[in-house]
Amino acid sequence: MRTEFDRELEERLVRYAAIDTQSDEDQPSAPSTAIQLEMQQLLVAELAEMGAAEVRLTDYGAVLATIPATAEAAPVIALLAHVDTAPQFNATGVKPVVHRNYNGGTISFADAPGLALSPQHSPELAQKAGHDIVTASGTTLLGADDKAGVAVIMTAARHLLANPGIRHGRVRLAFTPDEEVGRGVDRRLPQDLAADFAYTFDGSTVGEIEYESFSADGAVVTVKGVSIHPGTAKDKMVNALHLAAKIIQTLPHVTMTPETTEGREGFIHVYDCRGGSAEATLKFILRDFELDGLAAKGELLRHVCATVQATEPRAEITCEIRPQYRNMRYWLEKDMTPVDLARAACRDLGIEPVSVPIRGGTDGSRLTEMGVPCPNIFTGMHEIHGPLEWVSVQDMGLSAKLCLRLVERAALG
Ligand SMILES: [Zn+2]
Repeated sequence: MRTEFDRELEERLVRYAAIDTQSDEDQPSAPSTAIQLEMQQLLVAELAEMGAAEVRLTDYGAVLATIPATAEAAPVIALLAHVDTAPQFNATGVKPVVHRNYNGGTISFADAPGLALSPQHSPELAQKAGHDIVTASGTTLLGADDKAGVAVIMTAARHLLANPGIRHGRVRLAFTPDEEVGRGVDRRLPQDLAADFAYTFDGSTVGEIEYESFSADGAVVTVKGVSIHPGTAKDKMVNALHLAAKIIQTLPHVTMTPETTEGREGFIHVYDCRGGSAEATLKFILRDFELDGLAAKGELLRHVCATVQATEPRAEITCEIRPQYRNMRYWLEKDMTPVDLARAACRDLGIEPVSVPIRGGTDGSRLTEMGVPCPNIFTGMHEIHGPLEWVSVQDMGLSAKLCLRLVERAALG
């Protein structure tokens, strides 16, 4: 069955998903890719059209807007979603497909005959018979991460602006670029938002109200060898590739990697290796839910680098570790107001809220650390960052209803 918001949510998701907004961590610009601005300009036009106030595209690439208050003395709440899609998989030429009134069976893909999405592979799908499921066509990701969140917030905003009888405080909207490359929260964003607290709509399963993320560092290891013509290299050449391989080989393989961990376990993940015999660079992400666990992973990486360095003094191995974001629980557990409000709004809709630690980060992790407490709310997206990505329109509908219930409940005091 389709409820009041489903048609609008589906229309928005399909339209937004077709726009290529992939981010790229190798580009230093803000936003990292100019294509994201096309989407941002569209949102600016749509927000102005629906009557939002203070609509602007910041020079750091975020779209901000306001829904003016209709009630006194309510907290200012910010609603956030990110417009970029993940760099890990093809995101060009997305053709969204709506599987209306899904029959509970296997979904096939027009552009990839070998590909299949089934409840066996994605167990949540088993409960979605009768829903309208949106996927891509097989060769790209869908980008419901996070265009489902964008569609939810835009639909809720349109509804609030069209119904000034709904009592709520000042609501700030923010659509950020570059979340997927960890640069969604510019240092000016907290001040520009001027909100008491915020929510990202960037979560998965219905009912999820998340307030715990990884703590995250990034590391770059550079190996400088000694370069010389191979024909006269005896006792002179130091091959950076051999040493880089030795570093990867010495780090844990059967433990402490993304593919061998789950739940509250952290990891060291080498995700990029490039260079030549003269110089090679390895890129890592380090993740743990606790700061001491994160620090230990950094120490292990440094120790491995030092050990390999000791085997070849003529090489030069450096290891640079930089903080990326911190577990938002450290701040939110001191004041659970935003989490409790979201949980209460969820229960108002007859949905039992669940809080599981996010094995990743969100714009909310950075934002919370910078003083704007920001839990993460479900949107219904699943199997993100790959060709099997899917979202239920009806689950997006629940997310939009929660969004509306949240701002109304906050005004009750
Ligand atoms: Zn996301």
